[in-house]
Amino acid sequence: CGIYGVIGLTDASNFVALGLHALQHRGQEAGGIVCYHPDHGFNSARRFGYVRDNFTKQSLMETLPGPLAIGHVRYSTAGSKGQTQIRDVQPFFGEFAMGGAAIAHNGNITNAEALRRELIERGSIFQSSSDSECIIHLMARSLQRTIPERMEDALRRVEGAFSVVAMTRTKLIGVRDPLGVRPLVLGQLGDGWVLSSETCALDIIGAKFVREIEPGEMVVISDSGVDSRFPFRPQKSRFCIFEHVYFSRPDSIIGGRSVYETRRQIGVELAKESPVDADLVCPVPDSGTPAAIGFSQQSGIPYAMGIIRNQYMGRTFIEPTEQIRNMGVRLKLNVNRALIQGKRVILVDDSVVRGTTSRKIKEMILDAGAAEVHFRIASPPTAWPCFYGVDTPQREKLLAATMSEDEMREHLAVDSLKFISLDGLYRAVGEASGRNKACPQYCDACFSGDYPVAPSDQIKNGFEL
Ligand code: 5GP
Ligand code: SF4
Ligand code: MG
Repeated sequence: CGIYGVIGLTDASNFVALGLHALQHRGQEAGGIVCYHPDHGFNSARRFGYVRDNFTKQSLMETLPGPLAIGHVRYSTAGSKGQTQIRDVQPFFGEFAMGGAAIAHNGNITNAEALRRELIERGSIFQSSSDSECIIHLMARSLQRTIPERMEDALRRVEGAFSVVAMTRTKLIGVRDPLGVRPLVLGQLGDGWVLSSETCALDIIGAKFVREIEPGEMVVISDSGVDSRFPFRPQKSRFCIFEHVYFSRPDSIIGGRSVYETRRQIGVELAKESPVDADLVCPVPDSGTPAAIGFSQQSGIPYAMGIIRNQYMGRTFIEPTEQIRNMGVRLKLNVNRALIQGKRVILVDDSVVRGTTSRKIKEMILDAGAAEVHFRIASPPTAWPCFYGVDTPQREKLLAATMSEDEMREHLAVDSLKFISLDGLYRAVGEASGRNKACPQYCDACFSGDYPVAPSDQIKNGFEL
């Protein structure tokens, strides 16, 4: 998901709408905005579909006045499977004795089922099926005096990954979990402050990047500026390495590094680790593009657009149903026949998950008359599900969970298939000596099975580590 918040700018919700538009790649199912105006109180709107189709209408934006607003773009992960209902669309709002508060959450709470059961037994009335709603109910039960203190209380009971943007009548609040799994950055525009999942959504409104919110940090922003605190037991951070590989936008800066440059470097590493003689390097657009550029630069094999992407389709991987995902490949991608014919082609993609996309693409390339097809993948084999906010399927559906690299190559029926090594990936994100086995610098659980937070709901439901 993508989260965004603005304080101290006239018609803050207009800026939030722009920010959410720039974060659309993080969630395309639905979006929502909550705002506050001293004369008009709290207002909100939640809509299915793209930001640009909803939050551009003047008639809607007029109902969202005030200098303080937060927003969310949704992509459903654990919890509510299948069809999103409008009641699951964030931000969530709660009315407390000391006034209202709204929250928007990116990540996934790994003990949400247990918390929900406990809260319901003690009288909480849930409105949605979302794991994030637990935070509001935990806040309601807290005995602390102020809303930020209640949030601290609530988040200390929550396990898993959370970046949160929240607001009261006078404050904009941002928090990252102690491991800092999901991103969150602070920006500034004139007298106003901005919180955003990624820096690309600061650029769109012309806001200046100030700094990242630190893992385990809570910032409370009001008229009197930015107040920072660290409410959790300190831990070594474990940022999601897959944000670098796929999830974030390539024009964002994370941890002082250009996401584009990291992806290009992955391609360089791949070409060093798994070279192959061929005529063309082609990306599977858009997610494979920077790595394909790096592969081509390192290997000297010409880069070419062998697959053309229809720009009017979103991210396939974010489509919740398998059927649409299957259809999606042809709706979204087509082979550039004239270029491919008779050529030995290296295809570079970001990941192989279920293998359905990769298989279809290979068929399309062979149909177009390619002489050979070699897959080079910009992440290690995805052998484990993510429980921290990326919607990988159950373990059984992951190709790499049941097959060796050789079996996958046979299954995809390609001439060769190679994944970047875990150490190669770490080198590409700037860790010169690779992955520190004793204490990994990132979360890489979907590749390594090394889960930095035990997924306690899943374990209760029979998941085996
Ligand atoms: P597959 O071949 O596994 O079906 O799909 C891999 C391709 O689709 C990659 O280009 C990746 O961007 C995208 N993709 C499809 N589904 C998923 C998913 O569940 N997780 C991830 N990480 N990528 C996916
Ligand atoms: Fe990111 Fe993978 Fe960890 Fe999920 S399991 S947070 S996708 S690195
Ligand atoms: Mg892709």
